[in-house]
Amino acid sequence: MTLLFPMNQPPSPGLYIVATPIGNLGDLTVRAADLLRAADLVLAEDKRVSLRLLAHIGAKVPMRTYNDHSDTADREAIVGRLASEVVALVSDAGTPLISDPGYKLVRDARIAGHNIVTLPGPCAAVAAMTVAGLPTDRFLFLGFLPPKEKARSDTIAEVAAIRATLVFYESGPRLATSLASLAARLGEREAAVARELTKMHEECVTGTLAELAGRYAEAPPRGEIVIVVGPPAEATAASEGDLDAALQAALAAGASPSRAAAAVAQELGVRRKRAYERALELGR
Ligand code: SAM
Repeated sequence: MTLLFPMNQPPSPGLYIVATPIGNLGDLTVRAADLLRAADLVLAEDKRVSLRLLAHIGAKVPMRTYNDHSDTADREAIVGRLASEVVALVSDAGTPLISDPGYKLVRDARIAGHNIVTLPGPCAAVAAMTVAGLPTDRFLFLGFLPPKEKARSDTIAEVAAIRATLVFYESGPRLATSLASLAARLGEREAAVARELTKMHEECVTGTLAELAGRYAEAPPRGEIVIVVGPPAEATAASEGDLDAALQAALAAGASPSRAAAAVAQELGVRRKRAYERALELGR
């Protein structure tokens, strides 16, 4: 059964963004395998890594390196081929462009007006969220935290008040330090450490940030890791009385209901919608 190209036609020329497995070769989609076999050129982050994948599916396709060291001239050369050739971009694992190279190439191909097609598939950040048991209605993907303490702490402080689940990529040796920084800046939040997803030693350990920091300080883990941190709890201290008092003060000072709600929501850590609806009621 071939579901891949419309009417069994070969793919049209253009740039194809192809997600590949993050540990389990069985996760390569049928469509990705067919596209890679049909491609004129595969752009690989590391040709040795992608060669194993291509050999697994019996694809014999010319390869070219495309990674963070690729420059404008490399991109121009690739974009020059997109009008007449099927060019597939893969990264070592997972979805290209997600903490991986590719965005500038897609931008340039788009500016030049070429056909750009995505073949979605595995992505460690999304896979981790599916097993963490934390809210998924709003999330913020932050990639790798900076290695230097000050920059790491500043990055965490920047997102501390955001009402969303936070998702980070991490390595085993740095896990405990990052968890400790997150615990220090974000406090008692629920979190999950998803490790080696889709591989033999896959696991997902949950707990508060402080518990997880303690656990991994004692035994730094091996392998590839995603940290998922639940959103801040709605400030319990912000009772109806606190909210009313703060809103009334802001309204009395001449703020519109919208401005008063924005300021008070930020100050008390309550949802802006809740503050706005109450501000309207108080303003009547
Ligand atoms: N583009 C990839 C994706 O879509 O997930 C991510 C590339 S990024 C350079 C590599 C990081 O992704 C690893 O350091 C780790 O944090 C995370 N990662 C990749 N594979 C993973 C796996 N099987 N289990 C947990 N985390 C993984």
